[in-house]
Amino acid sequence: MDIKILGAHNIESINTRHVCFLIDDVLAVEAGALTSSLTFPAQQKLKAILLSHQHYDHIRDIPAIGMNFLLHENSIDVYVTRPVYDALSAYLLHDNIYVNFMERPPGKPAIKLKILEPGKPESIHGYSVLPVPVNHSAPTVGFQITSADHKTVFYTSDTGPGLADVWRQVSPDLLLTELTTSNKYDEFARTAGHLTPELLQQELDSFREIKGYLPQVVLVHMNPFEEKAIEAEIALVARTLNTKIQLGYEGMRIHL
Ligand SMILES: [Zn+2]
Ligand SMILES: [Zn+2]
Repeated sequence: MDIKILGAHNIESINTRHVCFLIDDVLAVEAGALTSSLTFPAQQKLKAILLSHQHYDHIRDIPAIGMNFLLHENSIDVYVTRPVYDALSAYLLHDNIYVNFMERPPGKPAIKLKILEPGKPESIHGYSVLPVPVNHSAPTVGFQITSADHKTVFYTSDTGPGLADVWRQVSPDLLLTELTTSNKYDEFARTAGHLTPELLQQELDSFREIKGYLPQVVLVHMNPFEEKAIEAEIALVARTLNTKIQLGYEGMRIHL
């Protein structure tokens, strides 16, 4: 399994992108950086997009990719839970905003929305995908994705602490976890449903207690203004837990 991170941050600039990654160049997770980071041929290679929740930073490129697929007379499957389906059809994939790509062009729409049930594994273009509810300010699922050769990544999406129930349902080789800000924003993180290095340390402790091992850990959804502080604080967490934790970045490739 080849993972390529297109976006590793929670705000956008010329050198930071919203969260988004590819698996083997065919499965996209989140739409935070799909059009700005990929050539047209790379976009046309995509078979499906998974969306974890309806927040703008995760769904933003859906209309843009819809237009690109429409002009290529192609269509793409977008997998979402019911609340995300409702939000997309009410707002973003709506003729008031731009084009309703769920109905255009008629008969062969550019975007085919497919509903995922939390807790129910789905086979998507050769991958087994398990959506697992996490703790965020909007209804959100993380995704465990397993390839045909049994390599497994779990992406937490945006989440706050309290993930013991999640750990019981997944067994990843790689944990791609959100880590939004530094320890001084503990209260914000708990209220908004995000993680800091100290909060992640508690979650990794609980992972190891429940599963008996720690996976490779890569961080995404970082606030660029806090990245220096995150780097220093996470180095301490890695030393304490005696494990390797890497900060994700745009263009990072991980081979499992
Ligand atoms: Zn969010
Ligand atoms: Zn987010």
